[in-house]
Amino acid sequence: MPRELAKDLAAYLRSLDENLTEGPRPGAVNAAPVLSPAPAAAAEQPPSYPMTENRPADMDALAEQVKNCRKCGLGRSRLKAVFGVGTYKAKVVFIGEGPGFQEDHQGEPFVGRSGQLLDKIMDTVLGLKREDVYIANIVKCHPMKNPENPEAHGNDRPPTPEEISACRPYLDEQLRFIKPACIVTLGSVPTKVLLNTDKGISLLRGKWVDYPVELFGPGHPIKVMPTYHPAALLRNSNLKRDTWEDMKLVKAFLETGKIS
Ligand code: SF4
Ligand code: URA
Repeated sequence: MPRELAKDLAAYLRSLDENLTEGPRPGAVNAAPVLSPAPAAAAEQPPSYPMTENRPADMDALAEQVKNCRKCGLGRSRLKAVFGVGTYKAKVVFIGEGPGFQEDHQGEPFVGRSGQLLDKIMDTVLGLKREDVYIANIVKCHPMKNPENPEAHGNDRPPTPEEISACRPYLDEQLRFIKPACIVTLGSVPTKVLLNTDKGISLLRGKWVDYPVELFGPGHPIKVMPTYHPAALLRNSNLKRDTWEDMKLVKAFLETGKIS
C-alpha cells in the first residue's frame, strides 16, 4: 500500500478507537420518550400519503404517517418511530436494519454506539456529516424480543419478513424522493432485503451492485454498496479495514460519478 494511503488508514483506525460512549451519540438531543401508542383506529384508516410514483412526494406527510403507523405489530410496542435523518439532497443514503434502544427513545437513526461509529466512518473517510447524507432503516420501529419492555437493554431482534414487507413502501418513497446516486447498505439485513439475495454480507461487501428495482423510472439506476454494519465492527475490529476500503469506493464514486 502506498505510504499516504497507509497513513490515511492508520488515522481512520485511530479515530474509530476514540471516545465511544455507552449512551447516546455526544451532542444528540435526549428527548423524553413518548409512551403513547398510535391510536388504534389508525390501523383501519387508508393511507393518507399518496404512494404513487407520479405525484409529488411530501416527506413531512410521510413522516407523520409513519409516526402513527400500525401496519405491523412493531407499531404497538415502539416508543418513537424512527423515520430518517439528514438531507433530502443527499447523494448517498445509508440504510440500516431497524431502530435499537437509543433510536427508539430519541426518534433518530443510529444514535447509539453503532451510530457514533458510523458518524466517524462518514467523517473520516467521506468527509461527510450526518447532515450531508440521509440515514434510514429497513423498518421504522424498534423490533424487540420482549415488546412489553421497551426500557430493557439487550432487547433487540432482527425484523421479521412480515414487518419488513409492511414497512418497505416507506423506504421506497424516501428513496424516490431523494433520488440518491448511491445507497450504502449496512450489514446483512438491509443488503438481503434491498438486493433480494440470500448471500452473506462478507461475500457481497465492497462490490457495487445495481439496485434491482426500477425506482426512478428507466435510465436512473441506483448503485448499491453493501458493507458491514458498524455494530459488527464493534464486535470484530478486523472488519474496520474492509469498511474503510468500501467507503473509499463510495468516495471515489461520489467524486467522479464513475465506479472504480
Ligand atoms: Fe409501520 Fe413500519 Fe412501524 Fe411497522 S415498522 S408499524 S410498518 S412504521
Ligand atoms: N442499528 C441499525 O440498524 N439502525 C439504527 O438506527 C441503529 C442501530
